[in-house]
Amino acid sequence: MTPFKDGVVENTHPLNILPDGAEPQLDRIPLFEVYMRMAEELAKRSTCARLQVGTVVTDAQLENVLAIGYNGNAKGFPNQCDSTTPGACGCLHSEVNALVKAPGHIRDKVVFVTDSPCVMCAKLIVNSGTTHVFYRRQYRDTSGVELLKAADVTPVWYERWANEWR
Ligand SMILES: [Zn+2]
Ligand SMILES: [Zn+2]
Repeated sequence: MTPFKDGVVENTHPLNILPDGAEPQLDRIPLFEVYMRMAEELAKRSTCARLQVGTVVTDAQLENVLAIGYNGNAKGFPNQCDSTTPGACGCLHSEVNALVKAPGHIRDKVVFVTDSPCVMCAKLIVNSGTTHVFYRRQYRDTSGVELLKAADVTPVWYERWANEWR
């Protein structure tokens, strides 16, 4: 078995792969978990009545935040959903709000999002040049996650460290 730095086998990001024989480093919070928590804090800013979602986009080295987002109405519009109709609240999705600001020429992005993406956001993520998508909660409809896999973008359900280092 290949050892993974953060002890999460699903996390195949290059920064998480250790050389043969090396031990996982579980003595401090993984950077992946730090960015996931940033996404969780951003979600608190959302004014969507249905679901509050936050997103952080970083570069491949996890050194730079390229963009952030949370779901909600367009800038300058009322801080509320347009409608109470399920599935048609009118809010821009968190991933859209982040990726619209992320530089297109930077490839191998990493997306951290509190909830697994819908199909349309998954397609946007594919086109944005992202290699890995970390999410805390799996949305009941997993077709977005399946789409990512089909497009060779790695989804990682990241929950192992959710309650540590608090
Ligand atoms: Zn909404
Ligand atoms: Zn979406």
